[in-house]
Amino acid sequence: MTDETARALGRAVHHTLTYLETLDDGPVGATAELATMRRRLLKPLGDGPLPAEQVVDELVADSQGGIVNCAGGRFFAWVVGGSLPASLAADWLTSAWDQNAGLYASGPAAGVAEEACGVWLKDLLGLPEEASFALVTGCQMAHVTCLAAARHAVLRAKGWDVEEQGLFGAPAIRILSGNQRHGSTTRAIRLLGFGKNSVQDLAVDESGCLRAADLEAALRAEPERPTIVLLQAGDLNMGAYDHFAELIPLAKRYNAWVHVDGAFGLWAAACPRLRRLLEGVNGADSWATDGHKWLNVPYDSGYAFVRDRAAHRASMSHRESYLIHDAEARDQMDWNPEWSRRARGFATYAALRQLGRSGVAELVDRCCRLARALVLGIGSLEGAEVAWEPQINQGLVRFRDPAGLDDDAHTDRVIAKVMASGEAFFGGTMWRGKRCMRVSVCNWRTSEADVERVIGAFARVLAEAR
Ligand SMILES: *Cc1c(COP(=O)(O)O)cnc(C)c1O
Repeated sequence: MTDETARALGRAVHHTLTYLETLDDGPVGATAELATMRRRLLKPLGDGPLPAEQVVDELVADSQGGIVNCAGGRFFAWVVGGSLPASLAADWLTSAWDQNAGLYASGPAAGVAEEACGVWLKDLLGLPEEASFALVTGCQMAHVTCLAAARHAVLRAKGWDVEEQGLFGAPAIRILSGNQRHGSTTRAIRLLGFGKNSVQDLAVDESGCLRAADLEAALRAEPERPTIVLLQAGDLNMGAYDHFAELIPLAKRYNAWVHVDGAFGLWAAACPRLRRLLEGVNGADSWATDGHKWLNVPYDSGYAFVRDRAAHRASMSHRESYLIHDAEARDQMDWNPEWSRRARGFATYAALRQLGRSGVAELVDRCCRLARALVLGIGSLEGAEVAWEPQINQGLVRFRDPAGLDDDAHTDRVIAKVMASGEAFFGGTMWRGKRCMRVSVCNWRTSEADVERVIGAFARVLAEAR
């Protein structure tokens, strides 16, 4: 090894450990202004080289105040998650090994680690053993992967080969979904050429679920049309679960492909106390979830699962004379949308090994408990109210304007004040026509002490507002 590599990595280890030591106490949000960040980082590109360790040191110095501490335990705005120790370390090794994990031949260990992840994840999440899978960049790309397989299958059933013929002139696919679906499904739908107009959004009931009668009416209206039904395991505001045991058999009666967005909610399957929420979900055709949220794998980790392996493979696989294929091995390129790709399986592999089955169950359970404590704790303060009590790790709180004028604006003001205090990171949302604060807990580092500390921060802000 060159000394330069050793010095640069030594600096990175030093800076990383220093960073992680301050993570639990420091302000959660960024403290530097955009102008400061630009002044420091947007420098002219140097004409000549610099020593590697200087580059590392200056990157750290220039980024000061511009790192959002979502790796720590007091970030609750979005479903974000941190990085488990083994997973973070494996992620570093992934960069050092620098495998091109597109083919087994260009990274045998990477390929087989992904196979292990596939087997373990299907087991933990209660998905069919025979399902194919892909480790992708995130849940959105898991949607793209699953819906590409869906597109293949529903058009094949109409005698149309979408990989050869494309979508121009193809039978028009329609997509039926509850209207609380995540925006990443819209982007997947756009990327795949369906267009937003092919989606029919159906109203959901009081508990955030698609109604069977509405779905059936929509299916019956055009029984011959190639159809994809999108269901949700955990919506972004309430963590609502569709009634899979009822809806999936219904959709199957009309030969629809059922895709489940379970970015975080699918993880409830790994927890015995919550598993009932997912009853019947294994009857679907494809499932998308994330590793970088609840499993606490560093970013660049989503998972796609597809029951119809042939459809999945047909939508992705490709051959070239210069590539090397091993008849026995699994080539990621046959299942993934990318060509060259990071060996992202190692980080998932390490996370699952570090936690084990009981560790995943405990992590999911603990986050749900802490989410409840946080929502009920903040919601019971004077001037606050619980809008949605967590069923899993998602809840909603609202703040009443002491002047009695505008609770929506006041809710945003309270969020802004807590953010400015650096004590926690939260965001707002519109829910049933009202402004609310979202509360998501999915970081392994979040502790009861964090929850107490954050409730204290709200108590102070609300007292000042009175
Ligand atoms: C986060 C999220 C997504 C998108 O996942 P990415 O990993 O950001 O691509 C999709 N659906 C739901 C419900 C989510 O919470």
